[in-house]
Formats: sequence, C-alpha cells, structure tokens
Amino acid sequence: MGRTKKVGPVGRFRTRGGASLRKARAKIEIQAKASYECPQCARKSVKRIGLGVWRCTKCGYTFAGGAWTPSSKLGESVKKS
Ligand SMILES: [Zn+2]
Repeated sequence: MGRTKKVGPVGRFRTRGGASLRKARAKIEIQAKASYECPQCARKSVKRIGLGVWRCTKCGYTFAGGAWTPSSKLGESVKKS
C-alpha cells in the first residue's frame, strides 16, 4: 500500500498534464524542500524526511504531516483539484 501511496500524486500530475499543473508541482517541490518551524522548539529546522514525515534537525522531533508541507492544508487542496 505504501508504494501506491508514494506513486499516486506524481502519477496524477503526469496524467492530467498541463502547464499550470506542472507549475503547481514545482511550487510543491519547493515547499517540500523548504524548512519549517518546529512545533516543539519553534526553530526553523523541520525538514521532510519522507512522504508525510517531518523531522526537526535541532531537537530531533519527528512527526507526521502533509505530504509536501508539515500541515496537510496543501495536500487537501491538491486532492480536491
Ligand atoms: Zn525542534
């Protein structure tokens, strides 16, 4: 099941195509690579270590979040479109 989940979003982007979707995906990838504020120590050191898994490099706090950002808001909007 984990394999299907990992391939799913990318496959959908490829199927739908279109410049706007490609642009949206680039934006998502930038967000996925960005650092986010840690809910535990409040430092901007949270990095994506896996699909929906985030870890703070300062305090080691690991938590589950959205696929591309620590909060799942973006993931929800992608699902809707
Ligand atoms: Zn932290």
